[in-house]
Amino acid sequence: MPQAKPKLNAFPVFMRVEGEAVAIVGGGEEALAKARLLAQSSAVLRIVSDAASADLLACIAETGATHIADAYNAAHLNGAVMVFAASGDEALDRRVAGDARRLGIPVNAVDRPELCDFFTPALVNRAPVAIAIGTEGAGPVLAQMLRSRIDRMLSPSLGPLAALAASFRGAAEKLLPKGNARRRFWSDFFGGAPARAVEAGELSQAHDAAVGLLLSNEPASGHIALVGAGPGAEDLLTLRAHRLLMEADVIVHDALVPEAIVAMGRRDAERLPVGKRKGCHSKSQAEINALLVELGHAGKRVVRLKSGDPLVFGRAGEEMAALRDAGVAYEVVPGVTAAFAAAADFELPLTLRGVSSSMVFTTGHDLKGNLLPDWAKLAISGATVAVYMGRSVAAEVAGRLIEAGLSPDTAVAVVENASLANRRRFHGTLADLPSLEARADLSGPVMTIIGDAVAGANFERSEPLAAHRQDSVARAAAEGVNQ
Ligand code: SAH
Repeated sequence: MPQAKPKLNAFPVFMRVEGEAVAIVGGGEEALAKARLLAQSSAVLRIVSDAASADLLACIAETGATHIADAYNAAHLNGAVMVFAASGDEALDRRVAGDARRLGIPVNAVDRPELCDFFTPALVNRAPVAIAIGTEGAGPVLAQMLRSRIDRMLSPSLGPLAALAASFRGAAEKLLPKGNARRRFWSDFFGGAPARAVEAGELSQAHDAAVGLLLSNEPASGHIALVGAGPGAEDLLTLRAHRLLMEADVIVHDALVPEAIVAMGRRDAERLPVGKRKGCHSKSQAEINALLVELGHAGKRVVRLKSGDPLVFGRAGEEMAALRDAGVAYEVVPGVTAAFAAAADFELPLTLRGVSSSMVFTTGHDLKGNLLPDWAKLAISGATVAVYMGRSVAAEVAGRLIEAGLSPDTAVAVVENASLANRRRFHGTLADLPSLEARADLSGPVMTIIGDAVAGANFERSEPLAAHRQDSVARAAAEGVNQ
């Protein structure tokens, strides 16, 4: 039998309180909590208590509430649109609730649901936007958890954006016919240039952009966000990245970005994988640049999702140049780069007082020529070196650095799948590093960190690289014998 859908026993509504009196009876914690909640509105607070606590008195002074410092009587409720019985005293709260009901004023009695006409929600306040959360019997802890989750999802600039929208309502209704045109204006307003300008704190630019939208018949211009997805763990995504993903029309992502993060985008967003895993380029960089420009010209809101930070070995330079040349608007959202995630997994100080005060991000692929690149000299003078895409050049990196004068005993840390549950950690010295190349058991992305600061890491959960070196030496020797 199909189950009936559960029904709400309390139905949420928004009550008009601007300039209206709201009475709170009580002088302690409960009254203070309600006073703070209601002070977020433009109601005129009336606090009735002959024994207000110091905190409540401070709140009254701060909010400009009216204080009736008398023993409670029913006349104190006159003219109020809402009453809170918040004395902490059951008999008094009952009296207040009874009086309010007789006067026809809705009442809430703190912690006494049986006396309540209404409940107060957990509130996410982005005035003029409010999100009210009610959990009926499930309790305040759940409500507060949901509150903070929703709070994190919403941009702090939602309030100013909604206020700007309110100021355009009249004009939009006058100038745009009801239906598609008006709907498109609002969708471009909240998802396009005006919203982005408010987000950047440029209110007058936002106003101009909205006027532009109102007066032109052109479709909204597109926008590309080059977004860092972080090293892989979903909760290392920034709040801004998450927000943009949820607003995107199209998500263009690299192969290294885990499915779970791509899935965090808006449900009906189009998802375009553009590959770029070693050995299987599904699209060339030029094709990706052209795709981004095309989507921008088509008016799409695009999230170009890259692993780690988009500006670190992410070819963002080329994409930004193409967008600039084509006149497509874009922004960059930073992410946690793999070196930082690997260092965190190893509790490895990338800079260490008295040991290392600089850091190099490199691929090691530039070590092939005759000339030693500058970063190798930095490594020798004590910089911590993070090697991206370094597995296939591990022997080259180690050999050239040793040749250039770095001690073969220099500490090395390697992390495969940094930040993910299946990560693996290895430690050793520069002399052990070449063994990395031959390992067939590493299929995920690998970060190598080299330098004296690595010695400050925690090696309790890592395997020695050398064990594998000896294995492979032994295996090679054995194979040699067998031949
Ligand atoms: N923009 C990215 C780097 C892209 S280059 C960033 O800022 O992290 C790809 C290389 O990054 C991989 O070859 C590997 O060296 C490194 N990498 C990316 N994710 C990683 C992870 N979770 N663990 C270890 N290394 C990672």
